[in-house]
Amino acid sequence: MWPKGRIGLPGDALAPVVMWFRRDLRLGDNRALQRAVALADGDAVHAFFGFSAPLMAKGSPKRISYMVQALISLDRSLGNSLNFSYGDPAEDVARFAGSVGATTVVATRDFSSLGCERDRRAGALLASQGIDFQLGDSPYLVAPGKIARETGQWYRVFTPYYNGVLSHGFQAPLGVPLLALAPRRLMDAKAQRALDVPPQFDLGAFPASEEAALRRLGEFLDHGAASYKLDRNDPFLDGTSRLSPAIRFGVIHPRQIAQAAIGVPGGEEVLRQVIWRDFFAQVGYSSPLSTWDNFDRRYDLMAWDDPSVAAVAQRLQAWKSGTTGYPIVDAGMRQLVQTGWMHNRVRMIAASFLIKDLHVDWKIGARFYLEHLIDGDIASNNLSWQWVAGSGTDSAPYFRVFNPVLQSKKFDPSGRYIAKYLPELSKLPARFIHEPWAARAHGLLGAGGYPEPIVTHEIERAEALRRYAQMIQASAPAEL
Ligand SMILES: Cc1cc2nc3c(=O)[nH]c(=O)nc-3n(C[C@H](O)[C@H](O)[C@H](O)COP(=O)(O)OP(=O)(O)OC[C@H]3O[C@@H](n4cnc5c(N)ncnc54)[C@H](O)[C@@H]3O)c2cc1C
Repeated sequence: MWPKGRIGLPGDALAPVVMWFRRDLRLGDNRALQRAVALADGDAVHAFFGFSAPLMAKGSPKRISYMVQALISLDRSLGNSLNFSYGDPAEDVARFAGSVGATTVVATRDFSSLGCERDRRAGALLASQGIDFQLGDSPYLVAPGKIARETGQWYRVFTPYYNGVLSHGFQAPLGVPLLALAPRRLMDAKAQRALDVPPQFDLGAFPASEEAALRRLGEFLDHGAASYKLDRNDPFLDGTSRLSPAIRFGVIHPRQIAQAAIGVPGGEEVLRQVIWRDFFAQVGYSSPLSTWDNFDRRYDLMAWDDPSVAAVAQRLQAWKSGTTGYPIVDAGMRQLVQTGWMHNRVRMIAASFLIKDLHVDWKIGARFYLEHLIDGDIASNNLSWQWVAGSGTDSAPYFRVFNPVLQSKKFDPSGRYIAKYLPELSKLPARFIHEPWAARAHGLLGAGGYPEPIVTHEIERAEALRRYAQMIQASAPAEL
């Protein structure tokens, strides 16, 4: 919902409007941009993007690489009129808006804690110059905070939320507005340098432009969606949309996906997954602490292994580098580090292994995923980690411990995914590829090859359950 503001009345001489792009790097179905165009009433809109210096210094290089390519593409679509600053986006947008004599800055509302804080500061700085700051729309099908239970409480369980979204409905996507753009006035030298850095790795599988994302959506719905329900769990197949990085940066909006999926065979299942993203955003928004703290506070008492102990650090390092000796876990971790993306099924298996086989706190794993995932998003990532850990809102029960060998046999039966990321195992017969230690007894694995398992799953499963029982007991209220 946009604030009630002036939209050009006939004969009204309007001052310039700034469109501040953030996680909405597209022209189509961009309601903030539509709003800016309406407010400018035929006058040129100033397009602005602010690089955050701290995020550029500390953020995931893979995510930055993707964002830069998406920005280059957006700038091209805007006829090279996008203004770029580099520093503190809240201060920079206020300075820029002042320099062009703007009366209004428009942006899509951000629901992350960091984004809300930045917007609060930007709003204050703009207000001090008499400039109106209008925030509206959201990067979700239904904005967080919109759907609550009849009791007024927030939903904590996915299926009722999913039903809530369906009955609430969502808006149909809009096209690209007729744009009049002011020529570029600002290109910070550091921003220029950031834009000049070539991508660090092949982004080919992940469309970093609006046009490519829409094309990928079309191809996926035409060819992949019908078998999505079956294929989405096979990590070797190109069975999912791979649109998550584009969604993460707003290169495409979920409304565009939802609308295109309606009536397509398999489209309903795709929509369901997109609503998982809405759900996690809603939980993160209504309980901001739940993103880095255990949602279920009993888990504060869980006895995790301490990574400052050398043996634990070594096991953690084996997990990060894909050398645990469990092929499906290692293939996933290598896919993550090499490509910046990991298949959903394997994200769960590798997360479960860290938490329940290595007994390491989920937050450490969540941080590592966020360092590497191009689609890395605190709400989706951390609440998925909590789902696996059992500490979240709507979790897999803790006693459901993924068996990495059974999962591997079930979801990568021919071992093609493992062979792709673990070439040292690619020559093994399929019956051994899920548990290569069995091949050693048959003299099929060279000594210098793939490592022995760093732990024994059955033993660690029992240990995980023991710690869980201990935690439950410790957190139970004392009997009177
Ligand atoms: C431990 C763990 C960490 C994760 N971290 C992230 C993350 O940082 N960012 C992220 O976008 N997703 C995350 N996911 C969810 C999911 O793995 C990815 O969204 C999905 O693999 C992206 O691939 P895709 O675009 O081909 O998905 P598709 O299967 O094509 O689904 C379409 C879209 O729906 C959304 N979606 C699908 N599954 C989920 C899900 N389980 N939860 C939330 N949204 C979903 C995504 O936006 C996705 O692009 C995580 C899952 C786990 C188990």
